[in-house]
Amino acid sequence: MNVLLLGSGGREHALAWRISQSPLCAQLFIAPGNAGTEAYGTNLAIDPNDFDAVREVVLAHNVRLVVCGPEEPLVRGIQDYFSTDEQLKAVYFIGPSKEAARLEGSKAYAKAFMEEYNIPTAGYRRFSAENIAEGEAYLAQQDGPFVLKADGLAAGKGVVIVDNVEDAQQELRAMLDGKFGEASSTVVVEDFLDGIEFSVFVLTDGKTYRMLPVAKDYKRAGAGDTGPNTGGMGSVSHPPFVDADMLRKVEQAIIQPTLHGIQARKLDYRGFIFIGLIAVDGEPQVIEYNCRLGDPETQSVLARLENDLMQLLLETAEGGLSGAVLKIDDRQAATVVLTSGGYPGEYEKGKAITGLDEVTDSMIFHAGTRKEDGDRVVTNGGRVLSVTSYGETIEEALARCYTSAKLIQFEGASYRSDIGFDL
Ligand code: ATP
Repeated sequence: MNVLLLGSGGREHALAWRISQSPLCAQLFIAPGNAGTEAYGTNLAIDPNDFDAVREVVLAHNVRLVVCGPEEPLVRGIQDYFSTDEQLKAVYFIGPSKEAARLEGSKAYAKAFMEEYNIPTAGYRRFSAENIAEGEAYLAQQDGPFVLKADGLAAGKGVVIVDNVEDAQQELRAMLDGKFGEASSTVVVEDFLDGIEFSVFVLTDGKTYRMLPVAKDYKRAGAGDTGPNTGGMGSVSHPPFVDADMLRKVEQAIIQPTLHGIQARKLDYRGFIFIGLIAVDGEPQVIEYNCRLGDPETQSVLARLENDLMQLLLETAEGGLSGAVLKIDDRQAATVVLTSGGYPGEYEKGKAITGLDEVTDSMIFHAGTRKEDGDRVVTNGGRVLSVTSYGETIEEALARCYTSAKLIQFEGASYRSDIGFDL
């Protein structure tokens, strides 16, 4: 069966690696992919948000399974585009419908969903331009820190946390005044939760679910989780503080009611649910839902998932996940992301990358890379690539990542040298 994978990050490189290993995969196409995904299939220079272009590719290459990596096409309704097209509706599609993707695409929708199905999450209020004064008054009554979230997608930048009330009120006004465009025309103000974060990934066929390995990611640019937010600087799986008791609580208090809510609302959800969690005094609370896998968690998570991924995806699409038994590698996995100098601010592209062939102890997953003049790999984004390693312990896996990271060179290359510091 031919497969089309949408996206171009390290997440998609890891997905391409696993999907291409399956005997069920005949030809793999990646749109648009990166310099690394080429090793597993054929890159196609199309934008996943251009549904008509995706349609053409699917028909031209007789694709039977489409896997959507990033959230934007899902939030824009690519699954619905497929399910309502006469020629595409028989194609298996991994990713939720537009309505179901609102769990990620609208924080107000996600909060109302959690409220309705009693899923533990921070208390909140939502405000829009009509009740801005009410919002300011509400903030004045709260204790800091203040958490303000743009309702819609804002490329990971739509959450602002400030300590004092004046800053919070100013931020509320700025957001409602269009700081994040339409995405912040509604703002969710949430209670601040103090605890340690982790991520749970669930594969669901809409009826049942399977929990993938648990991970923790490191979003801030600077050591000790300081500095600006990024797309993600590293990840580990399994974070040791997530013990069996915590996992049981996550399943019972969060995953099962989430599935119940999906069914009760008749949402068409066949794909990954990424649940961002924070453990507060030993109790998990939901920070966010994402309707796809995370990057760079996927690299560590898929490193540990031993199943034939394509078979799992087909079972997901067909509604037959209930027979699936997950096989998880007992080893630990860690991922360290190498970035362009200046990221997440301004950075230059087109820097030659060397040393990739010297890495023997880790897997390399490309993200912002492209090929130039034949086989020369150059930088093409902020997060350039990641290295993923196994170890008996997380420390051992990370030590391997850092040995490998040192071998890879490009002008301005940078990475956090303290991933896992808080474990
Ligand atoms: P992502 O890029 O992960 O999609 P996002 O823009 O959707 O992010 P959230 O994941 O909701 O935003 O929040 C981003 C970060 O802000 C979280 O990882 C967490 O560190 C912090 N955060 C969010 N909500 C809270 C809260 N209620 N209390 C404390 N910290 C929070």
